Amino acid sequence: MKKAAIIGYGGMGSWHAGKILAGGVFELAGVYDIKQERLDLARERGIRAYPTCEALLADDSVDEVTVATPNDVHKELVIKALRAGKNVICEKPVTMTSADLSEMIEESEKAGRLFTVHQNRRLDSDYLTMKEIVFSDAIGSTVNIESRVQGSRGVPGDWRKKKAHGGGMVLDWGVHLLDQALMTFDCRLESVYANLDYITTKEVDDGIRVTLLFENGVRYFVEVGTSNFISLPRWYISGTNGTAVISEWHSDARVISCTEWGEDNVVPVQASSGITKTMAPRSENTIKEHTVPQVVRDVHDFYRNFSAAIDGREEQMVTHKQMMRTVRLMEAVFESAKDNKVVRFE
Ligand code: NAD
Repeated sequence: MKKAAIIGYGGMGSWHAGKILAGGVFELAGVYDIKQERLDLARERGIRAYPTCEALLADDSVDEVTVATPNDVHKELVIKALRAGKNVICEKPVTMTSADLSEMIEESEKAGRLFTVHQNRRLDSDYLTMKEIVFSDAIGSTVNIESRVQGSRGVPGDWRKKKAHGGGMVLDWGVHLLDQALMTFDCRLESVYANLDYITTKEVDDGIRVTLLFENGVRYFVEVGTSNFISLPRWYISGTNGTAVISEWHSDARVISCTEWGEDNVVPVQASSGITKTMAPRSENTIKEHTVPQVVRDVHDFYRNFSAAIDGREEQMVTHKQMMRTVRLMEAVFESAKDNKVVRFE
């Protein structure tokens, strides 16, 4: 079995340790962290803790290195690992700028080693269920997709609150949701318009709202909130002939589609200080409600794919081209929000 090692044994480093071991394709060789207490914790858990990053990289038995540190040191550590002859999985965001990413890709090509980013949320059940709806005829042709994650705890009080460490929600949840959006359609993204919130902290963005327009005409809205005490559903999808809602991470989709558009004799209903025909509820015999069961994929497939890619049996799940597209989109989000303008892609 191949061996993997982790640099940065914090929250996500610990998560990787579990997934690496459970995937059946890598053994965990050990971990390194700059904090002594994290090394002590690893040892308590029976995991080898390398005394230095150099010691980890000098271990010839290690085939793959996962970088799970704060965002600002991804580039430096990825390049070190590639130069030491390791295949590398880097946590998201792979880095903060497309110029840095170009250098990292160049290093991986020079070293002849694989390099990818952990866009694990391509395997999320709620995301895959959304795609199932969009590519079925459940709601007709898709018109609008709304993808939201909303919490109420502000930005966690660690490095995520610091600009210098690559904090803020564009680089945190934003990169997941934007990567999902780009992976939904096999067509060009035409434009992006974004606003950022600074509600609970001024140093980094603590909420984002992004509208993407794809060449196929679909509008795709992405929202990340950290001061939402009442959450909207995870997904709201509207089509030419119906609507679908996926409420939670692990819920089935509720779909209502129309069986008869031309309904005559609509009786107006009272709506606040007036009456309305347009917003009157539909009669039951003109709609059909059903459930689309959640689509489930095994999260261990990420490491399984990377192992197969090392052996040349599969293409890596997240390619360099896709990594660059997502980083460029993050840059466009910042540019749009700064100047309050629509950014168009050629
Ligand atoms: P964390 O603060 O819990 O852990 C980071 C660890 O890195 C800490 O233990 C810290 O001591 C260590 N570290 C810092 N600089 C280091 C260095 N130069 N060398 C070695 N260790 C170093 O943070 P986290 O929540 O685990 O986030 C880590 C990375 O994982 C971030 O890039 C974050 O965006 C990403 N992340 C991804 C997901 C996902 O679902 N893909 C989820 C959470 C976090």
